[in-house]
Amino acid sequence: MRFRQALPSLAVALVASAALGPPVAAAPGEGGGAVASAPGEHAGGGGAAYGQPAPQPKPRRRPARRATTSGEHRFPIAGAFDWGGADSRFGAKRRGHRHQGQDLAAASGTPVVAPYGGVVTAVQYQARAAGHYVVIRGEDYDYVFMHLRSRSIVVREGERVRTGQRIAEVGSTGESSGPHLHFEVWVGGWYSGGNPIDPLPLLESWASPA
Ligand SMILES: [Zn+2]
Repeated sequence: MRFRQALPSLAVALVASAALGPPVAAAPGEGGGAVASAPGEHAGGGGAAYGQPAPQPKPRRRPARRATTSGEHRFPIAGAFDWGGADSRFGAKRRGHRHQGQDLAAASGTPVVAPYGGVVTAVQYQARAAGHYVVIRGEDYDYVFMHLRSRSIVVREGERVRTGQRIAEVGSTGESSGPHLHFEVWVGGWYSGGNPIDPLPLLESWASPA
């Protein structure tokens, strides 16, 4: 269910976030050594074709049995949320780069769940950008969840998660001044040769079961 006016602080939060500086050069946990920039929202582009249609996603490991439909995935927020405006979108301008994900406003403490089964490849903290964040190497895409609430993460690196499994709660850690989930979808591996794609079409399909 959409929630139009419940979260008036989002726009302020995003503006504040956009005005802040470059990321701390912290390597992501499973980056494989070739990572030069932080995994945060303020990291570099990573080869994404911003402003252009997202490439057709290709399942990396296991061919999808069917198309990625709402019946097989879960929306990453299990509760009320708000899509936000243009500044919440993938490709929105940020200082020095483009936004690599979709921001979804929700009350602090709202459960965050795995959209699809996979393995947790990072549970990390980055004070100046992503805050508490989790990366799941899903069986179709890599999923990234940022600004998670302190002490809310209930999964560990290496753990296998199932579709819909609770992993954390919405928070406002890192460069964020209002509770929201920064959600990224990567094709080809998070900071390991892949690139982020616009998550909005996927999110919309998961939010609106056929
Ligand atoms: Zn964001």
